[in-house]
Amino acid sequence: MSVNKQFVNGAWIEAVDQLEIPLIDPATEEVITQISFGNEKDAVLAIDAAEAAFKTWSKTTPYYRAEILKKAANYLRENLDTIAHDMVLESGKPLLEARGEWTVAANLFEWYAEEGKRAYGRVIPTNRIDKRSSVILQPMGVIGIITAWNFPAYNPARAWAAALAAGCTVVAKPSENTPLSAYHLMRALISAGLPPGVLNLLIADAAPVGEAMLNDKRLKKISFTGSTRVGKILMDGASRTNTKLSLELGGNAPVIIFDDVDVDEIAKVASIARFRNNGQVCVAPQRFYIHKNKYEQFAEAIAKYVSLLKVGSGFEEGVNVGPLITGRQRDSVFELLSKSKAENASLLTGGHRPEHLHKGYFIQPAVVANLDQTSTLARNEIFGPVLPVFSFEDMDDALAKANDTEYGLAAYAFTNNLKTAIKVSEGLEFGIVGINEWAPHGTELPFGGWKSSGNGHESGSEGLYEYIEKKLISIGGIW
Ligand code: NAD
Repeated sequence: MSVNKQFVNGAWIEAVDQLEIPLIDPATEEVITQISFGNEKDAVLAIDAAEAAFKTWSKTTPYYRAEILKKAANYLRENLDTIAHDMVLESGKPLLEARGEWTVAANLFEWYAEEGKRAYGRVIPTNRIDKRSSVILQPMGVIGIITAWNFPAYNPARAWAAALAAGCTVVAKPSENTPLSAYHLMRALISAGLPPGVLNLLIADAAPVGEAMLNDKRLKKISFTGSTRVGKILMDGASRTNTKLSLELGGNAPVIIFDDVDVDEIAKVASIARFRNNGQVCVAPQRFYIHKNKYEQFAEAIAKYVSLLKVGSGFEEGVNVGPLITGRQRDSVFELLSKSKAENASLLTGGHRPEHLHKGYFIQPAVVANLDQTSTLARNEIFGPVLPVFSFEDMDDALAKANDTEYGLAAYAFTNNLKTAIKVSEGLEFGIVGINEWAPHGTELPFGGWKSSGNGHESGSEGLYEYIEKKLISIGGIW
């Protein structure tokens, strides 16, 4: 019998059909443990519990909810060693990255605890003396939260924290690839005194659970973090059932490097930024556009720095790049690389299985050149350890190439010229733009994509309002 169960209505229970799946360590390909695996039947039980709990949770004060979220944040900080260890085990990411991610998850709980207190309504003067109009804010109801594995704590934490702070109840379905981190988030909330049914955790078969969420009128919104492909499936379904959606989808971020910067210095930091979490990051800097005057110099420097990255188990001291999450993910990156070779791209370094690693889903980090806008590596979200370099002529050319994608999540530019910085940041068709920095996001900052990268925001006060309905109350006949 599995010890890793579903958490529904305040209790750890077996999945209705008692199914289990193995959880695989991506660094060794060995089974870590068996995981209880639910389906649409578990989803209905979870919605029942969340619907019942909404009646009381939505009537609590934001101050009450804040105390629970802050206690959960403290639990995460106090248990950092254990929870970071388990995240490395299931996701393969380096320990330092796992510790950093858990710290951000704790910060999200704490930040939304406080921001929930600041959801103010409005009193609006009208054109009639006998009338009073105001807008009040109310929690939306039961929310389905489906999240991706690449940030096993951060992805769920930012949506769970905002929804709970807003007074909503939740049916959460994190990725089956990284359930251990989700269990830890759940334990944090349980130890903080979260009442039964307020957040229900399912590790379950995604498609039937997604359908059950769409089809159940009691569930008011699905917050989804994952691929554009699945986002489109949910949009199709929602057009049928009229379910509201918040979508945080894929990316294909351009990095524009102008010729007034020290490209060697930028290449050095880029070799770390691009390969954070092995490139499995929605805002990962992906398409590197270098001014033609500095292209050769950058390509040489980045290949040198990338070849120095240490690949191995996330537990090993000094490792920069761990395994990819699954064999399937690794194979999809190899496939992109082989298509790109067939297109006559030049591999400057990496792109193969590391010689010293005989098990695990590893790829030696790659740099690829001799590409254009039609290349496979320009058109697809790579989600792996590959850094393609392109060149550009001038600002117009850079913007045209950077914007030439269906995605619109994050973009980056490097320049020391103020006018260039302003023009490029205003010309980029992306929801998040970093100028001279690689981390243009944070707990308090709105995070969301344009175009096919999503709909709505997470983080910041915008993230809270995704889970709040506005209601106009107009009182007439006063005199
Ligand atoms: P995915 O779309 O395959 O899966 C995401 C989640 O959806 C998982 O929990 C999965 O089980 C579930 N799912 C799969 N099929 C489903 C279906 N038919 N109905 C309902 N749920 C379903 O994505 P992934 O491979 O886990 O994650 C990688 C993708 O996520 C990348 O494209 C990445 O850019 C994106 N992502 C985006 C953000 C963001 O904030 N924009 C953050 C992290 C990841």
